[in-house]
This record gives sequence, structure tokens and C-alpha cells, in this order.
Amino acid sequence: MPWWNAGMPVDTTLPADNPFAAPSSLPFALPPFADIAVEHYRPAFEAGAAEQLAEVAAIVADPAEPTFDNTVVALERSGRLLTRVLTAFFNLASSDGTAEMLALEEELSPAYAAHRDAILLDPALFARVDAVHSARLESGLDPAQVALVERYHKDFTLAGAHLDEAGRERLRQINQRIAALCARFTSNLLKDTEERALVLDTSDQLAGASPDTVASAAAAAEARGLPGKYVVTLGLPTNQPLLSSLTDRDVRRRLFEASVSRASAGVHDNAPLAVEIAGLRAEAAELLGFGTHADQVAANQTAGTTEAVDAMLAQLVEPAMANLAREQGELETLARADGIELEPWDWAFYSERVARERYHVDGTALRPWFELDRVLHDGVFHAARLLYGISFRPREDLTAYHPDVRVWEVLEEDGSSIGLYLGDYFARDTKRGGAWMTCFVEQNHLFGDRPVVVNCLNIPHPSAGQPALLTLDEVRTLFHEFGHTLHGLFSDVTYPRIASTNVPRDFVEFPSQVNEMWALWPSILERFAIHHQTGEPLGSDVVDAIESATLWGQGFGTAESLGAVLLDQAWHRLRAGEQVADAARFEARALEKAGVASRLVPPRYRTSYFQHVFSGNDGYSAGYYSYLWSEVLDADTVDWFRAHGGPTRENGEAFRRKLLAVGGSTDPVGAFESVVGHAPDIAPLLHRRGLDPPEDATS
Ligand SMILES: [Zn+2]
Repeated sequence: MPWWNAGMPVDTTLPADNPFAAPSSLPFALPPFADIAVEHYRPAFEAGAAEQLAEVAAIVADPAEPTFDNTVVALERSGRLLTRVLTAFFNLASSDGTAEMLALEEELSPAYAAHRDAILLDPALFARVDAVHSARLESGLDPAQVALVERYHKDFTLAGAHLDEAGRERLRQINQRIAALCARFTSNLLKDTEERALVLDTSDQLAGASPDTVASAAAAAEARGLPGKYVVTLGLPTNQPLLSSLTDRDVRRRLFEASVSRASAGVHDNAPLAVEIAGLRAEAAELLGFGTHADQVAANQTAGTTEAVDAMLAQLVEPAMANLAREQGELETLARADGIELEPWDWAFYSERVARERYHVDGTALRPWFELDRVLHDGVFHAARLLYGISFRPREDLTAYHPDVRVWEVLEEDGSSIGLYLGDYFARDTKRGGAWMTCFVEQNHLFGDRPVVVNCLNIPHPSAGQPALLTLDEVRTLFHEFGHTLHGLFSDVTYPRIASTNVPRDFVEFPSQVNEMWALWPSILERFAIHHQTGEPLGSDVVDAIESATLWGQGFGTAESLGAVLLDQAWHRLRAGEQVADAARFEARALEKAGVASRLVPPRYRTSYFQHVFSGNDGYSAGYYSYLWSEVLDADTVDWFRAHGGPTRENGEAFRRKLLAVGGSTDPVGAFESVVGHAPDIAPLLHRRGLDPPEDATS
């Protein structure tokens, strides 16, 4: 039996020397990382949970009639200690997940789920929230306050607060079990990814890779106690970056096979966990009155219904697969000329050859022009300066949680402070795959908190004394994650629950995708794309070529992305009680049925490493469609910026004030429309991905 419900009295007084006992005294309430040790989390969690339960009990016991202030604002004010400890904990479990931290995460995740349920499934508390909600339009509340009440009411009803005691109890059990399974899923994946790293005997096997990739593979081997060998670690999605450049076909095959079989067998098999998680989610959805988990999720998003999601996807599947078939034909011809039949591990290699020979673009060969510091300062930060007038001051006096993490203070045009930006760019074994933004502190006026935002990427660590050189994809990722950062930094909202990036998940990717546009904006690209040794700028012919090459590979990109979207939907459109016997077969059938099955192009994530939907923290279950949904808004907004003069202060100001600053305090689609001037239109996205309807193609 786990410790939190073992019936033992829990000591909830936190010793003063626990670094979470008091708010951080560091600038911007940056957590005191140097003082935090693993053993501090559990007692701080226990004390924080007890503190919040006492605060909630006081709200419930208030003899006064329920009001916005004595109920909803009081809830907003509760749980400060718990927020402090869990924000630090979940951030560091993702970015520096040592074995001890991962083991603790497997305990704390279900404990936290139980704690949330204790609040959200409290009938007396819900009765008060429900009363405030019923009177919200006659209580003199401003629109943001109404939005907050509606948010809380949804949080409670989606958690099952309105159910009878038996229903609430079953939901409690389900939530705890899901939290435990998700934590196990994450930890299996992290361990299996590490174990499946490719170990090579000679540098010849890495022929085609850049010299510093070879050097970092040698360093990775050294670090694992394998001197003289070469270790290639796996990134999160199916497609591994090195597949496009390695000339040794057998190494490509091994790399691909290691990638697609991650966590799908043996002690770290995630398939049974995915089956159980999906089954429990279906059961919970039925209890809550929804047909499926996907219906439940859509109800809480800007999409509203699964029909709306399907309608968007329906416009993409057929043209994307036709596009994929065209690309496949071209690649097969090239491969046959080399005397081979195209296999999945050859796709990226030949696709890169087309990009190189037809468009003269070689994403890997461009690396000497993309030196991390220059991309940051003269690219990412420069674009933000042009649009928003902000600047970045290094704060070497502040220490983050790992020596590789850098800290900047972000300043307004008038020199006043906005918050802190932490950059954690390099891969390490203790970091989850992928790239993300989170906050250590979220902005809000209720407590006067200013934002502390972190970006995590997985750029291979350069060897000692060498510069970090990025691929074109990594440059785009850096701009993308920084788009989330701007959303966090510019938040100007009173209440924490609706501040910052607390917006529907099918909206949250929109600002980050928009920010990617500045990576290839000519005047910005010219500034940061400077050869790190010769100082030569990237020729304008190369810049043009990158632009014209963006349509190549859209068949692959759209198909692998749709594969993941539809796989996620399939898992979460199961009805309660529907049994899945074999996860791999379920996956294959789902892709076939959705019309996106391809022998050569598997989905961007397969079930056993689909961390977005089967790991608790990210919470993209039935929501992976969000990336495409947001991209509709993104492509439309990119057209708006282009039509209005690009990265000007005026455009930046409009985007910041009307959209980035408002968080979840207003209708997100309304915020979009107030900037762009019309309802979302899918045409710009279809055009960008080369999926225009045929009648347009002939005009
Ligand atoms: Zn993102």
C-alpha cells in the first residue's frame, strides 16, 4: 500500500530548513535550486497538500453565502506551498530525471491525483462553486472573472463533482491508477530509450554524419564507460535526424528499428499500460456522461466536438496521402537507381538527396551557419526585440538546476523587468526527449508573481571547446519553444488559473507555431545565419532555396503527423468495456481504417512511445490533433503578418496585447479574430502544406 493512504498519521509541519517552507527569496522567486535535494520534496508535498485541504475546509465551513470572493478567489489563493513544490518537482523530473526523481514521480503522481480529487470531488465545495456559477452573470463580475468562474465550474464537472458518491469514488480510483500508469509509462520509455541507444564499433559506421556528430557519439560512449566506441542516442519521434545522412544502410536499419520498437517489449513494455490507460479513460468518460474520452476532451477545447475535429482532419487525409504517394514514387526511382528497394530506413536519406539535388538545400550541411548563441541573440532575441521591444540581460549571478542552463532577465523597452528566461538546450540522459516550455513561476496579479519560464531542447551536447551547431529543424524548434515563452512572459492576467499558457490545448500551440515564421524571415535569417568560422553570411540563393524547398517533404510531414493524430483519436474513441487484446494490431488497424497506413512511413509516434498522450504531465490525450488545429490559426496569422509589413513593433504590439497577454481570460478564438480580423480559415494551411484543392492548382 502506498504511503499516502497507508492510514499512518502524516506529519505536516515542514521544518524551516526545507527550501520549500517559505517562498523563495531569490529574484523573481526563482526556486533555490542549489538548496533543493530529493529528500525535500515528499515532506513539502505532504505539508502543502495538508495546507491546501485545510484552506478548502475553511472555504466550505464559511457560514456566509457563496460569493466569487469567498469561494472562487479563495480557491485561487489556496495551495501556494503545494504549487511551489510541485512546479519545481515536475519540471526537474522532466529535465533532470535521475533514477531517484523518477521513482519519486511514480509515487507523487498518484498521490497528487488523489489530492486533486479530494478537492474536485468534494460535494460541499462543488455546491458553492455551482452557486457562484449560476449567479455569475448577475453578480457584477467582469468578463475575466466570469471566465474564471466558468473555468472552475468546468474543472469540477469534468472531474465528476456532480456525480453520486459511488461514481465519485470510482473516478478517484481511476484517476489514481491512470496517474500511476502514466508515470510508469514515462519511466519505462526513458529507460528503454537509453538502453536502445545504438552502440557502434567504428567511426566508419557513421559515414555521412558531421565530424562533431561523430565526436559527440564518441563522447557519449566514453560517458557510458565504452571508450573507443560510438553511441547514437534516440530522439523522441519515430524519425531520427541521423537517418537523413548516414550512408551505411545497415546502421540506418538498426537505428530505425531501435526507434520504432522502443518500449514495445520486455521489462519496459508500454503496450499493456497504453491498453489499460485507454480503457480506464473510456470508463471515466462514460461515468461523466460522454460517449468516449475523445468526446470529453473535445468538449473542453476550442474544437468543442469530435465532429469538428473530424471535419478538419477530413480535409487533410486524402490530399496528404496523395502527396505522400507522389514523394514515394520519386524516392523509389532514386533508390532503384542505386540498386535497392526503398525501405522505411531509406526514406529520410533519399528525401534529403532530393532536397540537396533539386533545391540545393542540405539541412545538415547548413549547420556551420547556425551556431546556437548567434541563433539565439541575433535570431530569436532579435526577432522579439523587433516585434515587442524587449531585451535580454544575462543573469550570471543566478544559478539554475544544471550547469548547462542559462538565465536571462527579460526587460521591457523602458528597462523595467518582465521576468526570467531559462535556456536548457542540450540533451542529457536524465532529460525527457522532445522540446518544451514550462514555467517555474506563472504570472498573475493576484499574488504579484512575475513569470519564470524555461525552454528545454535536446540539441546534442558539443564536445569540449566546440561550438553548438544546429540543424535547420533545431533552429525552427528554438523559435517554436520561444513562442511559448513569449506567451508565458507577456501574460497580464489577475488570476493564476486562467493566466499564462492556461488556454485550451488546441490553442496553446498557436503562438509558438506563429513564432517559427521569423526563423526564415529574410532580414532576420540574414542576421543570424553567419558561418561560425568564416563569418560569411548564408547566401541569398540558399535562403531562397530553403523557402522553395519547404513544399518538398510535406507529404511525409503531414502523413506522419496525421498518423499520430488518428492513432491518438483511435485509442480514445474506445467505448467503456471495449477490450483491446493486442496493442500493435490495434494500432495497425486504426491507421488502416483512418486511411493513413503506410508501409514506409509509420506515425510520428507509435503507441509505446507516444508520450504526449500516455504520460500524465503533457496531457495531450485525444488532443494530439491540437498541433494541426493550431496550425490552421498559425498559417492564417502568418498571412496576416505578411500582409501587414512583417516584424514591426505595431504588429508585435497588436499580437501581444490582444492575444499573448490575455491567457485564458477571454475566448481564445475571439482573441485570434480580434488580431486577424476574420474567423479561422483552413485555406492558408492547405496551401502551405501543398494540399490545395485541384481547382486552385490549375488556376
Ligand atoms: Zn509547442
